[in-house]
Amino acid sequence: MLSMALSREDDGRVEVVCGSMFSGKTEELIRRLRRALLGRLRVQAFKPALDDRYHETKIVSHGALSLDAEVVHDARSLLESVRPDTEVVGIDEAQFFGMELVEVAQTLADRGVRVILAGLDQDYRGRPFEPVPSLMAIAEDVTKCHAVCTSCGGSASRSQRVIDTQGGAQVQVGAADSYEARCRHCFEHPELAHPRLARAAG
Ligand code: ADP
Ligand code: MG
Ligand code: ZN
Repeated sequence: MLSMALSREDDGRVEVVCGSMFSGKTEELIRRLRRALLGRLRVQAFKPALDDRYHETKIVSHGALSLDAEVVHDARSLLESVRPDTEVVGIDEAQFFGMELVEVAQTLADRGVRVILAGLDQDYRGRPFEPVPSLMAIAEDVTKCHAVCTSCGGSASRSQRVIDTQGGAQVQVGAADSYEARCRHCFEHPELAHPRLARAAG
């Protein structure tokens, strides 16, 4: 069937690009979406309304790469904004959409859409940051990006909150001003002054 050739159901898949802040998640998302555009695929990019750090209707990386995006308030309105003929959907800051995003990603992929999600896999306490861990579980492909540890220059997997303006809330939107990329060894657990000693003490 000719109509099926446009949106083959077997093209549908979920890809997750995760890692700490500054690890290049947004750059990687933009790279994949630009390649899809080069392939003349119909692409839509989304970002949550919560993330108003940069230009309102663009996905912007810390290295100042950018791509046009639609701002949506939640996972449901994201799903409703995907046009029937869209072949590739990119979603930045997936950690801000809540667990509903898992079902939305499944629905789109089942329909034949390639869904690429970029987001933090850990919060500032180093704990799994839903919905990204669940998205990783259902994804066909997972890429873990690493930043450069600001303390030792090693490979950073965690986001250290260096300034707290929200009384310990899980979500505090910010960038270079309030977070640093840290490796496992340089990461200081927010609640524990001496994480290694505390862990040894049980
Ligand atoms: P993410 O979306 O994961 O937060 P971005 O893709 O927006 O990351 O930005 C990655 C870019 O951030 C790098 O290419 C680099 O220019 C810049 N950068 C700033 N601080 C760091 C760091 N500590 N480690 C790696 N890259 C950093
Ligand atoms: Mg980013
Ligand atoms: Zn380090």
